[in-house]
Amino acid sequence: MPLRQLFDYLPSDTSIVPKSGMRVEVPFGRRKMVGVIVEIDDKSDLPLEKLSSVIAFPDGEQTVLTDETLELLKWCWRYYKHAPGEVVFNALPPLLRKISGEIPPPPLQYSLTTAGEKRLGEPPGRIKAQIRLLEEMREGPVTDLQLRTVTSSWRKTFSRLMEQQWVRSEARQPAQLKPISGPVLLDEQQLAVEAIGKTLGDFHCHLLDGVTGSGKTEVYLCLIERVLRQGGQVLLLVPEIGLTPQLLNRFKKRLGFEPVVTHSGLSEGQRLKAWAMAQSGLARLVIGTRSALFLPMPELQLIILDEEHDASFKQQDGFRYSTRDVAVKRASGLGVPVVLGTATPSLETFNNAASNRYSWHRLRQRATGAAEPSWRVLDLIQQTMTGGISATAMEAIGKTLEKGEQVLVFLNRRGYAPVILCHECGWHAACQRCDANMTWHKATCRLLCHHCDSSARVPVMCPECGADALQGAGEGTEQLEQMLGKAFPETPLLRFDRDTVRKKGEFDRLSEQVKTGKSCLLVGTQMLAKGHHFPQVTLVVIVNLDQALYSADFRALERMGQLMVQVAGRAGRDQLPGEVILQTHYPQHESLLTLLSSGYEAFASDISRDRQIACLPPFSYQALLRSDAHDKDDVRAFLNRAKQCFPTGEATVYGPFPAMMERRSGRTRWYLLVQANRRPILHHQLDEWVSQLHKLPSARKVRWSVDVDPQDY
Ligand code: ADP
Ligand code: ZN
Ligand code: ZN
Repeated sequence: MPLRQLFDYLPSDTSIVPKSGMRVEVPFGRRKMVGVIVEIDDKSDLPLEKLSSVIAFPDGEQTVLTDETLELLKWCWRYYKHAPGEVVFNALPPLLRKISGEIPPPPLQYSLTTAGEKRLGEPPGRIKAQIRLLEEMREGPVTDLQLRTVTSSWRKTFSRLMEQQWVRSEARQPAQLKPISGPVLLDEQQLAVEAIGKTLGDFHCHLLDGVTGSGKTEVYLCLIERVLRQGGQVLLLVPEIGLTPQLLNRFKKRLGFEPVVTHSGLSEGQRLKAWAMAQSGLARLVIGTRSALFLPMPELQLIILDEEHDASFKQQDGFRYSTRDVAVKRASGLGVPVVLGTATPSLETFNNAASNRYSWHRLRQRATGAAEPSWRVLDLIQQTMTGGISATAMEAIGKTLEKGEQVLVFLNRRGYAPVILCHECGWHAACQRCDANMTWHKATCRLLCHHCDSSARVPVMCPECGADALQGAGEGTEQLEQMLGKAFPETPLLRFDRDTVRKKGEFDRLSEQVKTGKSCLLVGTQMLAKGHHFPQVTLVVIVNLDQALYSADFRALERMGQLMVQVAGRAGRDQLPGEVILQTHYPQHESLLTLLSSGYEAFASDISRDRQIACLPPFSYQALLRSDAHDKDDVRAFLNRAKQCFPTGEATVYGPFPAMMERRSGRTRWYLLVQANRRPILHHQLDEWVSQLHKLPSARKVRWSVDVDPQDY
């Protein structure tokens, strides 16, 4: 329940001894619900006759949370001031949140009996399908996944084999590590592996700071191999977009077994299976997105977070937590090291490394020997532009294509135009439910709000004045694709954004095409900026990042720098040197100049200093009290009242402020900002405050939540 409290129940008189971490079925009001035991106590604030009893223990004496994960979750609900029920359920696979969900039986493996081996030595005869299954087991025990690759109807054939007693099934054993050796490590890589390796068995935070292509993944692989040899488990967390078949294949090839993968795109059944593999210790290596953070792993000895700066590591609704921070907390609780890898550390991590709280390992050389791309800043003032691209950039694109090389054009905006307006009266299409313009998608003839998914037909005439004068303003990737297609009709053009890459596997189909190495144009959003290797790209054009230079969000500049370095990292990864063209109206912007002339580390120091002067995170600690409702007055009344009851102390409360997008999906959103110079002070006052907020009558008219260490406003 979305309530910031625990609920007391009596044990039912069955033979099962309750233990924390077990699931229970309990009455809640008139409903029956699933709960998880988090504490056992011999007293309650409620009188005995008011307490209900547990109805059943759906999993018998099995637990779904280990002591370790339960402790971590307790820390989470205290730290993030969130409802314990939601925090715990977030950590369970979706099927175990339902009464009907069951912990799956231990997985099996299948192998040949002596009779089976003998049969395999004889000519196949008429049982070819059965022989093919036997063949699959020739090298040793296999899993159902492997047998399914032979034929999807393997179960029927397999039962024949069982009848003949040619095969047997038994409890699955952990996958055998059969590593092939990787490349000889460069000195920097070797040093990092040694230094991190030395801390195995102890809590320690490591920043692995290496440009794209510097061989961070290779460092992970060496460390993973070490831990697996000692019988430990490893958890590798990657951003939503980084979990590619490319990456999985690389791990599988190097380590000689299939890592267990989990992410929110899997079916509920698959997620439960992955959870069971992790919990039983059978999964030696788990690769997953944010949701894998809470997997029970009894032998967990190393946590790695790749692309630690990535925004998808912060859960942005419901239970808002930072995967990075909780991963560090988890490592500390377990007494194991955590490795944060990135080419562009977040300022939080950067400062933890700069102040020696984290060890800082720099990989400054590209492992493949490729040169760093060179930058060219194009001043857009008074340039002739076609569809968002300057004449100079067009010329550079043409020249690169002529040489038979590949070009990447980056624009972080999909659709045809970000707004459609009337040239006669100035009307523009705004979303009815949000403070945002509708994006024009020309191919589908729709206006789409990218914030609430509202959509409408594109009007033929201006709905305001009736003039036939509607036109797009600004550019999106759809328009770039059209314009570049016209300018370079001979060149294949591939667009990567959420409109073209909707289906699973679509990204890989497109990137396979790029990897043939033939000359082509890639147009895309930040989908192109992360993790993927396009070694034949020798020119990157960044169409426009100017908005970030003068944004109201104090993190915009940091994110811009990260994005620029990440996009540039796509260029010239192998033998071909790359060039990056940045189009901007502000070529003299100081932070931009620092980034281009001295690199990300200098840039990060620079903007860090500005943050320190302004007393902004990571030099201060923040929390938001967010509130939204249909009626703006309700929101403001609640926040004003909430502000009045803020406990006195060193932390200060500011606001109420409208959210950067005040209206979204028809609801008005405002917040109060709490800031303190020390974290314990912030939390002390927050705890006292939150317990007061529940009692406010005005709180009942709004939705409200606390966002600790907020990332957006
Ligand atoms: P990152 O994860 O930092 O982007 P990768 O580990 O993917 O870097 O390495 C980039 C490329 O360089 C890969 O093709 C990898 O196989 C190769 N590579 C990594 N380390 C070495 C090395 N020591 N010697 C040769 N090639 C290497
Ligand atoms: Zn008009
Ligand atoms: Zn909208």
